[in-house]
Amino acid sequence: CGIVGILGSKPVAPQIVDALKRLEYRGYDSAGVATLERGELERRRAPGKLKFLEEKLELEPLSGFAGIGHTRWATHGAPNERNAHPHATERVAVVHNGIIENFRELKEELLDFGVNFQSDTDTEVVAQMVNRELDAGKTPELAVAAVLARLRGAFALVFLFKGEDDLMIGARRGSPLAVGYGDGEMFFGSDAIALAPFTDQISYLNDGDCAIVTRRGVKVRDCDGSGVAVSRPVQRSLA
Ligand code: GLU
Repeated sequence: CGIVGILGSKPVAPQIVDALKRLEYRGYDSAGVATLERGELERRRAPGKLKFLEEKLELEPLSGFAGIGHTRWATHGAPNERNAHPHATERVAVVHNGIIENFRELKEELLDFGVNFQSDTDTEVVAQMVNRELDAGKTPELAVAAVLARLRGAFALVFLFKGEDDLMIGARRGSPLAVGYGDGEMFFGSDAIALAPFTDQISYLNDGDCAIVTRRGVKVRDCDGSGVAVSRPVQRSLA
């Protein structure tokens, strides 16, 4: 239901939780954060209010400078910890708003390949599919593009990759997603309101866009069509 991503210059988990709080008004049943800890993906997730996630982070802090977070409104799978986002494999973590309509057939395919699922969500198929493309040697950008081409439904997605401390990839089709520009920091948010404490410089992605974000900026492509580079104007958000 709510998405945040930050490539920061200090530990980002507290900022991610603050941003998620600004999206609380939209409603949610669980929440989670993933960061890169010395290159490895680590997660904290909790059902219920954000304060339960905060309590977990107090007991077991995350210190990574790159991270993604999510507040979930369950559509597929009960609202519990194992179904809370981010969903992750060894190589990739993802947060997702919306629904992957063809997840059942994609999941069947992955089960045939021997993939072990850790959740009951539609979202996890996306993580598992990207993981397989990465295993096959694709770059993160090409792995995401290959998977996007197979997804049906409405979604916004943001990915974080093992060993890639200066990279987030986002994509949208039918669910909103914005990029925020900071000073040596970059952001994703499902809503400019989430990013208001950090930046008012926002560009809104269009349907079919995917955005490759590093701390130096963003490259946007038309991922549902030709794959060509597109430019999305930076606007001053009034959020
Ligand atoms: N369909 C996903 C799930 O049930 C995402 C729901 C959302 O938009 O929060 O986990």
